[in-house]
Amino acid sequence: MSAKCNAKTTAGKPCRAVAVKGGLCTLHSDPQIAVEMGRRSGQARRTKELLAQEWAELSPPRTAQEVRVALGGFIADVRAKRLDPKVAGILGSLANVLLKSIEVADIETRLAALESVLGTCTPKEQPKR
Ligand SMILES: [Zn+2]
Repeated sequence: MSAKCNAKTTAGKPCRAVAVKGGLCTLHSDPQIAVEMGRRSGQARRTKELLAQEWAELSPPRTAQEVRVALGGFIADVRAKRLDPKVAGILGSLANVLLKSIEVADIETRLAALESVLGTCTPKEQPKR
């Protein structure tokens, strides 16, 4: 059976890790490991916070061109492992719906312009007889 580490945790409780060298665990035998782990944890947290801020600031695309740019960004983020592929899949589906609604809105705008030139109106605008 392996012996436990003789050191105490920062909370003052006995360390429960297995002793590997001189009665100490890996972490307590080399304080630099704890420093490095803390540094990496802080860096990961800061990166996560930055990404969250970036996402919060992302305004909804209003044109097909903006949707195209956003989708390109999602692809780049997935490849760089900054974005969960599942989330990217959901965003892709939403982008598809958004593109269709932009297309319909564009057709409605063009139709309204045509109708105003021709002097006609849509069926729902026709007065009841
Ligand atoms: Zn320890």
